[in-house]
Amino acid sequence: MTFRFFLVSIILNLPLATPVIFIDLSHTFDPSIPFFPTQVRFNFTQRIVQLMNEKNKFFYATNAFTTSEHMGTHIDAPYHFSPTGWKVDEIPLSHLVFVHARIVDVSKQCSQDRNYLITIDDVKNSNLSVPESDAETGEKFSFVLIFYTGWTKYWPDQTMYAGDKSDLHFPGLSEQLATYLVNTYGDRFVGAGIDTLSTDYGQSKTYVVHQILARHNKYGLENLALTDNLVNSVQTKFFPLDVYPMKIGNGTGAPCRIVARLNNPKRISK
Ligand SMILES: [Zn+2]
Repeated sequence: MTFRFFLVSIILNLPLATPVIFIDLSHTFDPSIPFFPTQVRFNFTQRIVQLMNEKNKFFYATNAFTTSEHMGTHIDAPYHFSPTGWKVDEIPLSHLVFVHARIVDVSKQCSQDRNYLITIDDVKNSNLSVPESDAETGEKFSFVLIFYTGWTKYWPDQTMYAGDKSDLHFPGLSEQLATYLVNTYGDRFVGAGIDTLSTDYGQSKTYVVHQILARHNKYGLENLALTDNLVNSVQTKFFPLDVYPMKIGNGTGAPCRIVARLNNPKRISK
């Protein structure tokens, strides 16, 4: 805030702008991060090259890497499980940038059952109330529903986070919940996020939640980095969220930078 704006705010009795802080909900990419066994792992094909050009006196460094579209914190485009669904580069920015997000805390249930299937009642008990339109813009209220399982604390331990490579264990959405969300909230519901490897639980063989979300052109956000602090701070409130996937043409998914904007910094520390 400029001093001039401060003075004008005082004179006109305008509310002073609340400071906004950004919370990074993305994990850092690294060759050691947890992975889904069927996916190509993130790896450098060219390690850090650091060159000092002695003649012209400048520093130069570059890397190259390979990765599945579905490694680390990433988006699942609807096309991942639906031939007619949006590909990554087709998802409208209005579904990605400055969308409303809401967290449903199921960490207690998941701590008692690592194969927990999140239920419709878990959402109902969180007192989710979704307006028809955005109070400020009058536009449709687009929102992402994020499930906090508590699995972020196991990152980057592959076994704790995902189970054995041939016998995966982690919580996910139930089929009934996925159906409930698309039917209840329609166009307002743009995607679901979770702090595990997948919106489907580890034991899934048919990926039915992926199928339902994709069929309705909803995206998934997987491997979100969530903390108790964040969850306690936002509680049951909606907050603005930005999702920035790499714009891969015909992509089924893409690594993402995902950022929450909060205006209550006192209760957040990382
Ligand atoms: Zn994925």
